[in-house]
Amino acid sequence: MKQNQSEQFLNKLLEIKSSIVSGSETKQSANRKFESGPAADISDEAVETYSKELRMNIGEQEWQKLKLVELAIENIKNDCYGICTECEKPIPKARLEVMPFAIHCVQCLSKLEEENRKLPQEPTI
Ligand SMILES: [Zn+2]
Repeated sequence: MKQNQSEQFLNKLLEIKSSIVSGSETKQSANRKFESGPAADISDEAVETYSKELRMNIGEQEWQKLKLVELAIENIKNDCYGICTECEKPIPKARLEVMPFAIHCVQCLSKLEEENRKLPQEPTI
């Protein structure tokens, strides 16, 4: 994929990521009014607590989406973005434009959904 194209997708992904996380922060600050403990140090434990809280706040569906978004951002950095993780063929650009965090092509996605309906579902286009 061309450099400027992957940058476009990276920007989209970062936007999606911040909208998921900022959505949760709104809810968190509402909860925080009722907390009175001292601020926790930034430790591994704090990070883990934070991701647990985030997961609870945004809900399972948004959490799965966030994981996919983070994975796609990693893939852009590693220069392997837009490749189906099943068949290793390029995912059509039209699909990536609708869903920049897609990690499967449509064929593999419908195959996987048939095989395991419990997997987090990506909308097909
Ligand atoms: Zn595929």
